[in-house]
Amino acid sequence: MTTDPATADPATSNPPRPATCPSSSCEPGHLLIGIVRPDGTTAGVWPPLPIDEAFVASARAADRVPEARLRFAGPCVTSQCHQWHGDRCRIGDLVAGQPQAAVGPGAAAAPPPCAIRATCRWWSQNGVAACRSCPKVVHTRADQPDGRVADDPRG
Ligand code: SF4
Repeated sequence: MTTDPATADPATSNPPRPATCPSSSCEPGHLLIGIVRPDGTTAGVWPPLPIDEAFVASARAADRVPEARLRFAGPCVTSQCHQWHGDRCRIGDLVAGQPQAAVGPGAAAAPPPCAIRATCRWWSQNGVAACRSCPKVVHTRADQPDGRVADDPRG
């Protein structure tokens, strides 16, 4: 068995927990973690809401694209996602590199509350820098012709 260093806990003998993608798709078994506001930022859903087939069917009715107005978390699929490069999530690194992720004089040192931080892939890669930009991430832009953006692991 290989150990994912992103989620291994060197302080204990506990087996590593699977990493979570904080910008996943609307699929049964995933978690609803946020609602996209009109200004494009995300309001967190607390606690996260596990979604089932009925939720997904309703959210996708009439060709709606739930990933354009909601945020979902699901298992990080690593090399099965085209955003996975080497041993890292490229989107997580991009998010952490946004200007608002930089530590400035007024920046809060502590990250905002988050229900999935313990297993979040982006947090494991970049810590609080990812969290500062995370609320501005929208999985799918409504103005994309195919309703998808680059971080959609469904390709
Ligand atoms: S706020 Fe931080 S820990 Fe939570 S999903 Fe976003 S990047 Fe991950």
